[in-house]
Amino acid sequence: MTATARPPSTDVASAVSAAAALLAPARDVTLVAHVQPDADSLGSALALGTVLSRRGARVRVSFAAPAHAPESLRPLDALGLLVPPEAVPAEPELLVMCDTAAPERLGSLLDRLAAARASVLIDHHASNPGFGDVRILDPAAEATVVLVHRLLAEMGAPIDTVVATCLYAGLVTDTVGFRTAGPAAHRMAADLLEAGVDVEAVLRPINGDHPFGWLDALAGVLHGATLDASAAGGRGFVSAVVPVEVMERYRVEEVDGVVDLLRTTSEADVAAVLKQVGPRRWSVSMRSRTVDVAAAAVGLGGGGHPRAAGVTLDGGPDEVLARLCAALTPAG
Ligand code: AMP
Ligand code: MN
Ligand code: MN
Repeated sequence: MTATARPPSTDVASAVSAAAALLAPARDVTLVAHVQPDADSLGSALALGTVLSRRGARVRVSFAAPAHAPESLRPLDALGLLVPPEAVPAEPELLVMCDTAAPERLGSLLDRLAAARASVLIDHHASNPGFGDVRILDPAAEATVVLVHRLLAEMGAPIDTVVATCLYAGLVTDTVGFRTAGPAAHRMAADLLEAGVDVEAVLRPINGDHPFGWLDALAGVLHGATLDASAAGGRGFVSAVVPVEVMERYRVEEVDGVVDLLRTTSEADVAAVLKQVGPRRWSVSMRSRTVDVAAAAVGLGGGGHPRAAGVTLDGGPDEVLARLCAALTPAG
């Protein structure tokens, strides 16, 4: 491994050039998304992987868990680059980590980071401590795909419809439908549309297509929602629980939409959804209007962005809610 051979890059432009220089001659590249991959992580890995594969490199894209990519994101893998984690070489020649806020987000593939001959991090989480040989880490980027787009420009790579579709999927979802996108991200979207992206074909499977039974399950989850107007320093906290039976029956495409409904609650600045992933284990999604939920998540061992963060916590649901409320209450 060459982790100590090159000092970590400090500024984004020089990291982008360093990554382009590393990728240009690469013959074998492994790209990894974070566990429970979303459109930004998989879209980033598949966009870059598609370009490298078309240039003749041996390319594989993977993530540690779950066993299969979300159904809605599988069409992004037009070249069939996705492989199970067992198929990732024990000592990757070049490892590219996409949208991974912390090394632990690699899950069982974490050991490949230490074993890789060289590694590149591409991420936009402010909570990221920084890891890997070359670090394209820019919290000002709305999505990791924005950084991949910059890297592809540096590499002189043409953006065809397949690559554009991967990038668009990450951009539109991480910006909550362009709500948090700045002018440059809108210009990037325009370029991607010109490259042939079919917006409805990308978005409908991700968040606009649910089985009829989901309406009843969603009604049950929302029926159990609670509002604590005095929590989060008086700014209000709304929460709901998705029990394991619902988690097992419905896809991530259904379950991940719950927090988007909760966060529309007028009386609450912060919304949290507790997704049951074990008898006493909860994957928590938090969203906010003004409170820094990333700070709260990091304090509890998770991470994310100021307005969208997550953490996995153990205990009963009331206990987990109490810990979240404590973390959201400003000290003093
Ligand atoms: P989610 O609620 O799963 O959509 O996650 C919201 C944001 O928090 C995303 O940017 C995730 O990458 C990030 N995130 C979620 N869980 C974690 C975690 N355990 N550690 C670090 N970042 C996380
Ligand atoms: Mn992500
Ligand atoms: Mn992201």
